[in-house]
Amino acid sequence: MKKFYIETFGCQMNVHDSEKVIGTLLSKGYEQVDTPEGAELVLYNTCSIRDKAEQKVFHRLQQFKRDHGKGKVFGVLGCVAQQEGERIFERAPHVSLVCGSASYNKLSDLLVQIENGDRRVTGLSLNTEDTFDTPMTRRDNPNRAYITVIEGCDKSCAYCVVPFTRGPERSRTSESVLEEARRLADTGYTEIQLLGQNVNSYRDPSGRGWDFARLLRAVADVPGIRRVRFTTSHPRDFVKDIVDAIDENPVLCNHVHLPVQSGSTAVLNRMQRLYTRDQYMRRIEWMKSTRRGIAITTDIIVGFPGETEADFEATLSLLDDVEYDSLFSFKYSRRPGTPALALDDHIPEEEKSRRLTFLQEHQRFIQIRRNSENVGLVEETMVEGFNHATEQWIGRTSRNQTLNFTHPVHTAPGNGDNLIGCYLPVRVTRAGPNSLAGEALSAAG
Ligand code: SAM
Ligand code: SF4
Repeated sequence: MKKFYIETFGCQMNVHDSEKVIGTLLSKGYEQVDTPEGAELVLYNTCSIRDKAEQKVFHRLQQFKRDHGKGKVFGVLGCVAQQEGERIFERAPHVSLVCGSASYNKLSDLLVQIENGDRRVTGLSLNTEDTFDTPMTRRDNPNRAYITVIEGCDKSCAYCVVPFTRGPERSRTSESVLEEARRLADTGYTEIQLLGQNVNSYRDPSGRGWDFARLLRAVADVPGIRRVRFTTSHPRDFVKDIVDAIDENPVLCNHVHLPVQSGSTAVLNRMQRLYTRDQYMRRIEWMKSTRRGIAITTDIIVGFPGETEADFEATLSLLDDVEYDSLFSFKYSRRPGTPALALDDHIPEEEKSRRLTFLQEHQRFIQIRRNSENVGLVEETMVEGFNHATEQWIGRTSRNQTLNFTHPVHTAPGNGDNLIGCYLPVRVTRAGPNSLAGEALSAAG
């Protein structure tokens, strides 16, 4: 059982967890393959944030078993593993391994048990003070690296499974984060993205006792690092010092993802979000009054139980007040074990769909307006790829906008002309609702 395949569902935390799982397995002599057909061990790193994501995993398990599953070992990792536990063995009897993210440090031992003939093994304890930092992490992107700084969540939003699937908050020491950042810079990474379910709840467990703003400043000072991003921030723990740090240091990208969920304080209360609309808006004003102009993005849930038409209107008016640069929006999804299940007045599915479509259309106009303000500006752009169909390079600005551009000299990759990983000044010439287009001003920087 030495060849493995892994498929990842869900958020960046899951993507990065998979990188650590892959690194751990490679260090134990396993070989990663690109298709489940060629593997002896098939792993799914799962997401259970919404019902649809969970169903996808069970569908994949069934479909693959029927077509090609014979003789393979199946493992379910991540949030569905933690949420469903041993029930997975009933729903998908061909699964042998069920392991939640708080138990990944036991993963190698669990695989040894399977190799020794155990038919079913689980790692489901949430009683951990450990984080899963592994020096063996296998990163595919050669320029941007994720670093987890805090795992788990101590909040209890009424709709959310994360506190049950990822356990209590555990922060890494600032020294181990910085050491990883220095190691990454030494191997050529120029961009670091700090990760946590609530990344700004970070609190250094060592004697230093650093908060998140202090950690941000220190990571930005690591020689060789040109960009630092972070996600996701919880509004309750979002302090002005984070905004000041960004305004002072251009290495800290001028983009903040600050999920609001709803523009109605009544809904926020029922969601147990721990802030009011006014408190949220105060944080937006800090960001709006910076010199650098911070791009702001968010998450919205429509159709939370009891959300009235007036509550929904309040969310639309919040979008107008903030003028988000972009947002993720979701229909409320009932999740097992969450307090919101007990609330009255669940909104019909068709009404949730109507609100979602309306909200997305409303936001589209805001983005067209916001993005058109960029035309004529010159933005430092990190090159991420090349689109052969449009013959444009694909870049990303500090504000996290996609900026597709042509280059006067380097018209395509090849013949040593690969710009990927370079930082270039690009003049924005056009703007759409979801991206910008432009022309590079000079050679690679
Ligand atoms: N910790 C972050 C915060 O507090 O904003 C969010 C983490 S969660 C993985 C990402 C997003 O999923 C949330 O911001 C929320 O909008 C959405 N989400 C979480 N539970 C949901 C549910 N039951 N139904 C619909 N969307 C949900
Ligand atoms: Fe879920 Fe709320 Fe924790 Fe975010 S803060 S992970 S939404 S419980």
